[in-house]
This record gives sequence, structure tokens and C-alpha cells, in this order.
Amino acid sequence: MFKRIPSYFSQGFLFARNNPQIIYTIFLIIVIPLAFLASGQKFLSVAKSNQERLEKERVGVMQDIFVELASSRMNEPAFLQESIERIKAQNEQSISEFKVLSLDGGKRTVIASLNKEEVGTADENNDFIYNEVGVKGDSSKLFTVPVNGERHWNVVRGIVDRETGVLSGILLISVSMASVDAIAMQNIRSAYYFLFFIVLAISILLLRQAKIIDYTVLYKKLQDIDQMKDDFISMAAHELRTPLTVVKGYADMLSESQNLKDDDRENTTRIMASVDQLNALITDVLDVIRLGQGRMTFNMASINATPIIEKVIESFQYVAREKGLEISYEKKDLPNINVDPEKLRQILVNIIGNSIKYTPSGSVKVFAETEHSILSIRVRDTGIGISAEDQKSLFSKFFRVRSKDTEDIRGTGLGLWIAAQVVNNMGGKISVESIKGKGTDFVISFPVVK
Ligand code: ADP
Repeated sequence: MFKRIPSYFSQGFLFARNNPQIIYTIFLIIVIPLAFLASGQKFLSVAKSNQERLEKERVGVMQDIFVELASSRMNEPAFLQESIERIKAQNEQSISEFKVLSLDGGKRTVIASLNKEEVGTADENNDFIYNEVGVKGDSSKLFTVPVNGERHWNVVRGIVDRETGVLSGILLISVSMASVDAIAMQNIRSAYYFLFFIVLAISILLLRQAKIIDYTVLYKKLQDIDQMKDDFISMAAHELRTPLTVVKGYADMLSESQNLKDDDRENTTRIMASVDQLNALITDVLDVIRLGQGRMTFNMASINATPIIEKVIESFQYVAREKGLEISYEKKDLPNINVDPEKLRQILVNIIGNSIKYTPSGSVKVFAETEHSILSIRVRDTGIGISAEDQKSLFSKFFRVRSKDTEDIRGTGLGLWIAAQVVNNMGGKISVESIKGKGTDFVISFPVVK
């Protein structure tokens, strides 16, 4: 079992390398709580040091006032004792020790204290504290000492006789920091609760993220499959072209033969028409794939559209006549437009071809007009028309109007989608105006070349 651990690791490493979102997720899971923790700690330590600063200032003020008072009345212990007790009464919670020592004859004698029993006795303890005062004169000194598991501040200050300038006594105040520490502790606890909820929320997010990772992997697979499908269709379409070209070639040769019976000539024409249809279908399929993959190339040129329109009209004359339709182009002098000429031809073949296909009787007319530096080519038919509802989806992939009028007409629903994509790619616009039962106008427009 242990032998497999390295293989689990390498599999995990491979998976993480192929799906970088995982690393991102783990990174978030670690970094966000750490960031909260660090900022929480910073905030708490600032809050605590502020609280301590305030406390220091309070004790300092207390000391200043008392020393000021005591410096001229060291010989009035009763007054000092009374003052101490009054101060204690006002700071019941925090002051644990408050005493005045006289330094008469080099000995430290307690002359006033909250602990009345030690009044009159020598204070033998805390040498290190008092020595500090001896060196520094009347400066204040603070020591942190633990008392019964609580943090205490012992603050000492020399009392200098105002007249003689001699260090005549020492003031010692001990304040409990229990309340400051309790507030800090409370804050730390709340910060940890908060952190716990953040980690919980992030873990829930992670679970969701795990789903997202699944979807991403799935999406990648789908993309690969989609790509394979496109590649296969492209390949198949290209392969279909070769035998079709052969069939068309032989049909062409046959149709040129002099000793062909009328029936056979007609059959040959049918073969050629079917080959053309198949070729058009293959072109559509390849175009759909090229457009989907952004691989369609455009050979843009500044051209006059008239010859292209005329050629397309010409190519449809026979089919239109067969159907009894009148097809015409109202020729005009046109300004140049910037398009891929072959693509423009293809779009016109599609739109004019549709007009003939969906017009049982009447006419298909092409006009071109220029307005506000835009050239519009309009293909107008007197066919079955398209309802306002169907017009909304007309340029979507695979859309075909389903009605009695269209049920016998074959098509893929790709032509207009391709036309719209190609027109847009060439900087033009395509639109439709139609009344159901009356006819349809398709308009393609491009900016005029200046
Ligand atoms: P199809 O291969 O079906 O013709 P298109 O994308 O070229 O595909 O057209 C989409 C649909 O738009 C057609 O199926 C038809 O219902 C409708 N349509 C296109 N041109 C016309 C037109 N001139 N008159 C009426 N309907 C049209």
C-alpha cells in the first residue's frame, strides 16, 4: 500500500498541473484565513498597546499629582495615609498597592500604605525596584510583575524635597492589569470565533469550487470532443469533394456528347444539378466550422459590386425561368465597397437563391442604392414572406420556418447564419423586411470606400 504513495503523489501532481484551478483553490483556502489571522493579530496588538498607553497615562497623572502633594509634606504621614485611602477608594478595582517610603538615614521606612500593618516598618523587599529610583532620581519606572496569575504594573517614583532638592522618599503604586488583559482576551476569543466562521465559509466555498473543477474538466473534455467532431466533419467534407468533382467531370463530358438522347441529356442535367447542390452543402458545412473556429480568411479589396450582382443574376436566369419567375437587376453606377469579392458572390447566391426557392410566382428584383455613404443591395421577392415572429430568429444557426408553404422545400437553415456572420466580418450589415404572404426584402449594406 505504501509503495503506491509516490504514484498517488505523481498522479495528484499531474492532475494539479493540468487543472491549475486546484492550486488556486488551495492557495485561497490557506491564504485567506492567514491574511485574516495576521490582520486580526495586528489589530489586537494595536488595540492592546493603546489600552496600555491609556492606563500608563492614568497612573502617570495619579503619580504626578501625588508626588507634587507629597514632596512638601513628607513629614505629615497622617495626611499622606488619608490621601492614599481616598485615591484607592476612587480606583477600587485597579490599585492593589499604594505606599510611600521615607529614605531617612538611608533606610526605607513605610510611612503610609494601603496595608496599614506595614506602616512604620522597613521595606526590605523589592531592592531592584528601589535601586532603579536611587539612580534615576525623581523619574518614574514601571515593572511588570505577576501576582496571583494576574499581570501587575509596579510603578515607582522618587519624591524629591522641593526646598533641598534631596531624594526624600519613594512612591510605589501597583496596578492590576487584569481588566485590560480580560478585554484583550475577550477580543482574541472573538477574533478566533470570527476566523473559525471564515474558515467554515471558505470550506463550503471549496466544496462548491470542487464542483466547478469537475465542470471545468468536463468542459475541457467537451471542447476536445467538439474539436474532434469539427476535424472529422472537415475531413469528411473535403474527402466528399473529390468523388463529386469526378462525377461532375463525367457528367459534363456526357452533356457535351453530340449523340445523346433527349432523355439522357435531361438526366445528365439532373446529375449536375444534384452535384452542385451537394457541393453547396459541403461549402456550407466547411464555412460553419471555419466561422466557429475563427479560421475563415477574407481577401478584402475595393471593388464595384455591379459585375458580381450581374453574374449571380445571370447564373439564376435558367432556374428562375423554369419556375416562371421574372428575375432582374436595376443597373446603376455604384461606388466601390471594401469586401472579399468571392464572399460577396457567395452571400448573393444564397440570398437570391432563397428568394427564388421561397417564391412560387412573381418576381425577384435586385436594386442597389447609396445613401449616407452606405451602399445597400436589396433583393426583393414576391414570395411566401416571413412572419414578424420568425424574422427574430432568421439569422440563427439551423433556423428554418416551419409551415405548410415550406414543408416541401429542402434546406439546412445554415445559409442565412453564414451570410450574416460573413457580412458582419466584412464590416457590413444584413437585415430583412417582410410581410407574410406578400414577399420579402433582404438588404445587405457596406460602407462606401472614400
Ligand atoms: P435554408 O437552407 O433553409 O434555406 P437559410 O438559412 O438560407 O436556410 O434560410 C433560413 C430560413 O429562412 C428558410 O428555411 C426559410 O424558412 C426562410 N427564408 C429565407 N429566405 C426567405 C425568403 N426569401 N422568403 C421566405 N422565407 C425565407
